[in-house]
Amino acid sequence: MSTTALERENHELKRTLRLMVSKAEDNEVIQAGFFALELQLLSCKRLKKLLEAVLVDMRTHFHICSVDLLLLDPEHSARQLLEPELLEEHANSLRFLDNSQLLNRLFPRKQMLVGPLEQTPQICSAFPHTTNRQGSSVLLPLLHGEYLIGALHLHSKDPERYCHKYRYDYVIHTAAMVALCIENCINHENLHRLSMIDMLTKVMNRRSFDQDILRELSRTRREDKPLSCLFLDLDHFKKVNDTFGHLSGDQVLRTLGQLLKSSVRKTDLVARYGGEEFAILLPGCDEAAAEHLAEVLRTKVQSLVFRSENGHPFRMSTSIGCCTGYPAELLEWSFPDIANELIHAADTAVYKAKHGGRNMVCVEPFPGQPIYGQAQA
Ligand code: GH3
Ligand code: MG
Ligand code: MG
Repeated sequence: MSTTALERENHELKRTLRLMVSKAEDNEVIQAGFFALELQLLSCKRLKKLLEAVLVDMRTHFHICSVDLLLLDPEHSARQLLEPELLEEHANSLRFLDNSQLLNRLFPRKQMLVGPLEQTPQICSAFPHTTNRQGSSVLLPLLHGEYLIGALHLHSKDPERYCHKYRYDYVIHTAAMVALCIENCINHENLHRLSMIDMLTKVMNRRSFDQDILRELSRTRREDKPLSCLFLDLDHFKKVNDTFGHLSGDQVLRTLGQLLKSSVRKTDLVARYGGEEFAILLPGCDEAAAEHLAEVLRTKVQSLVFRSENGHPFRMSTSIGCCTGYPAELLEWSFPDIANELIHAADTAVYKAKHGGRNMVCVEPFPGQPIYGQAQA
């Protein structure tokens, strides 16, 4: 081989090497971006955050014009976790399915569909808003084990972007991640919700009331509004258990929980605070309004007719304590101190109602000095 030929070959080899290095560097950047996306998906604890990462951030990440999701949600458990505004905002790209018929039709062999839109009518039927668009798509099954739980649709204007000649390991991997993260978020949020609810009465439990009262106090201070707390204790409840049995007692508690919940505003908090004691937090409610509501609740409980396990009718009454805190009084106090005082005062008022003869409402003023802890500087 002549020297010139050798030099040319050498030059050509160097050029190829440079191209390979540059390609490897590009791949490294793609891979790093991919890992970042994966971490972002994995770090989402709330379904809302996860869906936003999938529908919005993934679109930017893959430089495509849309990402859509189909989600199997027969019991509406996913929809219950999302705010109506989010559902409305993503109405075109987020579709919930009450049964798996469409998914079974789209993925008879649980394999992805890929290609230009005009060659994949199934995709157009699943996402009608993409039908008049040009371009290509990949539709990936979302699987939980071997069960279809949804579909992930990536759509590009470029008719060549998604076609059979390429491999799609990265997007297949992404679909597996999305499926896993969706399941995790729904389970995580449902567990969290369950841990905040009293299983017998389905109102909040004491733990979530103790947490939420602090949040409401912070809001009260910001909005410069009063905050009232009612405490209800059933009168002679033990007699119900002793006379009609524990199951009849349970039924009274269930009925009372639902009565209280349906008698207050959506923003008020109703909790089962102990055995037959309920607490109600009334944000923005002054003393007169709180006392009036307590009187309404007392009358409602008194007029209810319960039935024992063996059909015997009986009535109940309740003693209610009421306390209101006003922002001016609360300024110097820490939130946990205010919460303690409010609950303590409402409880004291119940005690007074019991001593006054039961079936009555008593009001206790908010105490003048913090007694449980130090005032905040
Ligand atoms: P008072 O008018 O003084 O409040 O009398 P009371 O009988 O309501 O109060 P007491 O505190 O003596 O009794 C409360 C009863 O509530 C005792 C307990 O067995 C019952 N209890 C607590 N939790 C439950 C529950 O989950 N289900 C049922 N059926 N009873 C419960
Ligand atoms: Mg009690
Ligand atoms: Mg009682």
